[in-house]
Amino acid sequence: MDIFKTNTSVTKHLEPLLNKGKTIGFVPTMGALHKGHLSLIKKAIAQNNVVIVSVFVNPTQFNNTKDLEKYPRTLQKDVALIQTLSDKIIVFAPNTNEIYGNTIQSKKYSFDGLEFQMEGKFRDGHFDGVGTILDYFFSTLKPTNAYFGEKDFQQLQIVKKLVSKYNLDVNIIGCEIFREASGLAMSSRNTRLTDTGKTEASFIYKTLLQAKKKFGTKSASKVEEWVTKQFAKNKHFKLEYVTIAEVTTLKTVKRKSKKQKYRIFIAAFIDNVRLIDNIALN
Ligand code: AMP
Repeated sequence: MDIFKTNTSVTKHLEPLLNKGKTIGFVPTMGALHKGHLSLIKKAIAQNNVVIVSVFVNPTQFNNTKDLEKYPRTLQKDVALIQTLSDKIIVFAPNTNEIYGNTIQSKKYSFDGLEFQMEGKFRDGHFDGVGTILDYFFSTLKPTNAYFGEKDFQQLQIVKKLVSKYNLDVNIIGCEIFREASGLAMSSRNTRLTDTGKTEASFIYKTLLQAKKKFGTKSASKVEEWVTKQFAKNKHFKLEYVTIAEVTTLKTVKRKSKKQKYRIFIAAFIDNVRLIDNIALN
């Protein structure tokens, strides 16, 4: 399997493929890969001639230095896991210096307000960091299609906005959330949970499903209140936010309309680990 660490080496490898008209599927990740990531890679394999997976813990998208330090880094294991799917996949695993040089800084982006909702309220500068790294990857690797999980639904919408607003030549493809049998959304951060934490964490998904039922007959604010109460009663969790939002603007729902699509979003801490999840409501 080809593993590249530098911009020059990876572009040298990709250029002839692009010139031959091969389609390139790109899956950006921060490593510590799990079956959720693999589901994106499998989709990319099915839809492209060439697949490239990046493994890079992007410092500019972390607003919390402890979270950045503690983020799991398991490149060898990741490569072995990717290899179980195919040994033709290209891995791009640059170091921070290769991407940022000596100045680890984000560019500034406007995503027409999407960046101020939900995660944007709690993770200052996060989406500028996401925009910066994806801008870099898209212009360097020139993928035909790029794959993103609905697990980070706000990020998916922001990437679509980045592409349309800045006229980037790549198709963005959203992929369903991959879950543990318990319902817990797979996440690299789950490896930091205690055994009890991991069992208790399925509470997020169970609560989302119950909220979906309630949304059939109750207003968005009543359902949000109900979810807040459930979390207040659970000693393992500290809820950061629960929001029912319209899927394109990500604005909180004031009054339901049959014509619009909604999702419910949760961010909560358990074992000092911050987990996020969301599901479609209609
Ligand atoms: P990360 O390595 O956490 O930055 O994630 C890389 C990509 O994998 C992002 O597009 C995520 O949304 C996606 N992803 C992470 N976890 C899951 C999951 N459980 N199901 C589907 N996609 C996921």
